[in-house]
Amino acid sequence: MLVLVIEDEVDLATTVEYNLRAEGYQVRLAHTGRDGLASANAEPLPDLIVLDLMLPDLSGTEICRRLRDQERTRSIPVIMCTAKGEEIDRVVGFEVGADDYVVKPFSVRELMLRIRALLRRADSSRREGEPPLLRFGRLKIDHDAHRAWIDDTELTLTALEFRLLHAFVSRRGRVQTRDTLLADVWGIEAEVTTRTVDTHVKRLREKLGEAGTYIETLRGVGYRFKDQPDEAA
Ligand code: CA
Repeated sequence: MLVLVIEDEVDLATTVEYNLRAEGYQVRLAHTGRDGLASANAEPLPDLIVLDLMLPDLSGTEICRRLRDQERTRSIPVIMCTAKGEEIDRVVGFEVGADDYVVKPFSVRELMLRIRALLRRADSSRREGEPPLLRFGRLKIDHDAHRAWIDDTELTLTALEFRLLHAFVSRRGRVQTRDTLLADVWGIEAEVTTRTVDTHVKRLREKLGEAGTYIETLRGVGYRFKDQPDEAA
């Protein structure tokens, strides 16, 4: 497993690198946003990126946005490192597609736990026994490639939106509470609120267009992906 650490505080980056190597990971370091972006695109692609929010040249949110815009880097899990008091940026971190975050000063142990959890989640979501290509009405999902289409139009989904969509489709017809979705899609470690679930479901619906009606809201309970696609959608 290769982890890319984009962090301008050299001491911190070196400490993280040391601990990652001690746990058997391979590590690449970048100390500026531009170097980080280049390194994120270099072969072999990293399996996970630890991304500092405040960098001298490009912000972490901008880097994350660019990673999500490019097909080759779109599904690489990102853990954002934010400083205390950056509440808004924290949210923005999720908005632009970060998968998790830690607040500085964080303990290296906490970061390691989150990295492990995120890699495990990325791995286990590939092994749920679903066929790689899933079809539901006009929707088609390639789980291995992290791609989804409505008819022949590919959707631009963040890694988180993709996991959300996959969670919905693979348990279609069943009620999913916000807490279930939080645990399965965000991971129980993430300190996000159920309102975050609503925000992301809303955005996913918008991206699905007419097929957004596949996701039903159960007031006060949660959501349910339709059991059968209907002709209207
Ligand atoms: Ca920094």
